[in-house]
Amino acid sequence: MKRILGAVFLVLACAIGAGGHVRAQEPVSPQSPVATVSGASSAADAGIAALIGALEQTLAAGDSVGYLQLHTENANRERARSFASTELVPGATRAVVRERDREGLPGTLPGNAYRLIADAFAEYGPRARAASWRLDVKRVGAAGTPREWAIAEEEALSSVENLYRLGLDTTKEFVAHNLKVSAEDIDLTLVDGTVFVAGTDQGVTGLVLLGSGTFNFHPAPDTEKGQVRIFCGAESLETKFAAAYLRLNPGDVPSVIAAAQLTAAPVDPRDLRRAQEVFRDESQKSFQIDLGDLSRDAWSLLPQSGDFVAEMRTRRYDTLTYAKAGNEAEDISFFDRRRHHNIALYASKQKLAARGRFYNEDDLLDYDVLDYDIEVAVNPDRLWLEGRARMRIRIRAFQLGTLTLKLADTLNVQSIVSYEYGRLLGMRVKNQSTLVVSLPTVLAHNSQLTLTIVYAGRLEPQTPDRETVALEQGRQNSEDVPLQMQPEPSFLYSNRSGWYPQAAVTDYATARIQITVPSALDCVASGQLEPGFPGLLAGKEPSQNRKVYVFRAPQPIRYLAFIVSRFTRAETATIGFGPAKPETAVDGVALAGTSYRTLNLSVEANPRQVQRGRDLAERAADIATFYESIVGDSPYPSFTVALVENDLPGGHSPGYFAALNQPLPSSTLVWRNDPAAFGGYGDFFIAHEVAHQWWGQAVAGRNYHEQWLSEGFAQYFAALYAQHRRGDDLFASVLRQLRRWGMEESKQGPIYLGYRLGHIRGESRVFRALVYNKGAAVLHMLRRLVGDDGFFRGLRRFYRTSRFQKAGTEDLRAAMEAETGQKLERFFERWIYGSTLPKLKLGYRVEGNDVVLTVEQLGEIFDLPVPITLQYADRKPVDVIVPVTDRVVEKRVPLAGVLRGIEFNKDDATLAEVVKN
Ligand SMILES: [Zn+2]
Repeated sequence: MKRILGAVFLVLACAIGAGGHVRAQEPVSPQSPVATVSGASSAADAGIAALIGALEQTLAAGDSVGYLQLHTENANRERARSFASTELVPGATRAVVRERDREGLPGTLPGNAYRLIADAFAEYGPRARAASWRLDVKRVGAAGTPREWAIAEEEALSSVENLYRLGLDTTKEFVAHNLKVSAEDIDLTLVDGTVFVAGTDQGVTGLVLLGSGTFNFHPAPDTEKGQVRIFCGAESLETKFAAAYLRLNPGDVPSVIAAAQLTAAPVDPRDLRRAQEVFRDESQKSFQIDLGDLSRDAWSLLPQSGDFVAEMRTRRYDTLTYAKAGNEAEDISFFDRRRHHNIALYASKQKLAARGRFYNEDDLLDYDVLDYDIEVAVNPDRLWLEGRARMRIRIRAFQLGTLTLKLADTLNVQSIVSYEYGRLLGMRVKNQSTLVVSLPTVLAHNSQLTLTIVYAGRLEPQTPDRETVALEQGRQNSEDVPLQMQPEPSFLYSNRSGWYPQAAVTDYATARIQITVPSALDCVASGQLEPGFPGLLAGKEPSQNRKVYVFRAPQPIRYLAFIVSRFTRAETATIGFGPAKPETAVDGVALAGTSYRTLNLSVEANPRQVQRGRDLAERAADIATFYESIVGDSPYPSFTVALVENDLPGGHSPGYFAALNQPLPSSTLVWRNDPAAFGGYGDFFIAHEVAHQWWGQAVAGRNYHEQWLSEGFAQYFAALYAQHRRGDDLFASVLRQLRRWGMEESKQGPIYLGYRLGHIRGESRVFRALVYNKGAAVLHMLRRLVGDDGFFRGLRRFYRTSRFQKAGTEDLRAAMEAETGQKLERFFERWIYGSTLPKLKLGYRVEGNDVVLTVEQLGEIFDLPVPITLQYADRKPVDVIVPVTDRVVEKRVPLAGVLRGIEFNKDDATLAEVVKN
């Protein structure tokens, strides 16, 4: 038997940390299991219900003898006794058994034997236990007789132990003076006040602190200090609290709380009332599970040893939450509950010692999805989706008893069947978009299984992502705007909507997707459209006609997506890249998967955008050809641009396609002052989105910190294309914009903070300024520092070693160092992991026919290229690059004329402040 306790904690963990949206601990609640009893077996209902009722009584009584009497004559008594000894523990104060699933037992006459899955729940006062059982039952008597059905065989499938119905001890109150509570990087002091406790048979697990208290949160990492400064103006947050609720493992109480400062006192009813109010609100925010129809009470899990949660009610900031959760890659968090913002999120000292400075989100995954076969019918009118997903899965864990999948909460799971093991039991976890599938046996590392999950429900399409620029200040105040046109509606289902069962983090897999839409609509999805599709499926009435699409993705993609709208094929073409360049073979790194020498490119456009779509097709082909020439590979055999009308420019790029927003001319929104809006260069968005096929899809970051590997790279490739297509002046103006935004916002944190940049203040432009623009500028500086040849060889090596895998900045560094022979540790340390900017002092002296340029670094030492313009009295200025990797660097340059002076070249993307002499 296995315990699903681990799975429940895992689920809790997803809620606290990953994805980085909300790190608050929401109540964990297995809903009624997904499989339902089928109507076909209704003839047996009364008899089986009677057996379940009798079983419930034996559980309530802990009656092993009575349990044995529920068995058939041939049942294995030894097995039944052993089951009873662990599952029917005497002393229950309440017991519930619920049938969850029923199917005919193979090799028996229909209606005479069933395999049941049942949930059992037993309370022992304030403690409880829940379990899932498999029961094979047979008809042994006539219908309507008391013993119509009996148990032939049983197995305990899973259990949740140590559930507690927590409550404050109303008989105890403690007076506290200078009571200290300490966890890593946080200290609470209850200067004067009272304390109430919530206990279990294992000791105290919850405390309510009332009175006058202060706490000090002082994260160790510099980056997190910077984030705390953005939140409160200082590197550590010290503030008063009037009440706090603490949750911890009973075994940790002595090390966390200085209990000697507590003195027992008579209970004051007013204090108790207040403490109960705090307890009621705060205790349900973590470690809580909801057992659905097994029990209406709130049951709580015990925190693992070392885990700790403190909810602090402050006057200034409302409720702030400190949490330490050992099963997270970044196990310390500090969270603003009112505004749902992570303020700090990082690894504890112990975690750093165990896993090192960097981590891959895949290391937390128990399994790997290898291939998907999905059939989905979509009705955008009702936002209704019906799906059937077959997934081939390989186990990564040493051994695994439950699979935790992500699937949108609103999608109801109708069945889960494994090709190898038959029908499986699944539990939905409320408000977590999680499905926990119970495996019938513990599977070993590398074993495979195939699951088919049938589901249906209402699902909202996903809202445009961050890639869309921000509004400057709402709508333009203009009265001569023509009649407002409405954008053509489109419905995007992608990585954030949970439209198909998937792992908690993105996972490279191949796929076949069949999508059925109303015949008036069209569809673009991840993959290549199969020949002969779309096909028409005639309904009873013309209004019920459907269109069927089949897309195939033979190369692995990170996540699957589709967009439904009214589309007209604007263009389709096959681009040939010519033979592979021999140079790429020299890299000595073999590519995983296939390398394509052609690309099938199509543009599907909203009807009003067909002409624009035709122009775009030519541009997209040119862009893809240019990128292929840089990288030496095109990762996917096809690419479709879905040109959709939208109020704002921007886009979304899954593998194999990009949805590109086309703002209508009548749009009155103002979005120009955004880091990602390049006025005067309309192709920037398409160039950025096409680049994501290489950066963001074929190669992706290993966790949220590495987002710049997709966004910064896509931005830089778009800049390179601007230069390729329109020349140096445009390139210079793009670089200026990268530099300006990058410098302005650098103090908001390092590029390595990913989505958390601008998060505390809710300002997405900060994210784009740094992850997109500064990220691109860093690549340009790297190129200037190591030279074009080494840079582009390094880029290709990075791409080849990382294709269809998750990569980190360290992999980029290794590739660049291998190709250039230069040490780049400090370069990435300063530019990616750090947030300061270099401060330079420039000078020169003329010696004979040479000028000696000097660059001095006044602040931290950076590695950077310093572009200097030599101003001549008698000829055009000349630009020189001085590679700087020390505090003082000199470079001798032969003079071409009469030198008038030197100037720091601000057109270049070197992010440095130059101090005037
Ligand atoms: Zn992007």
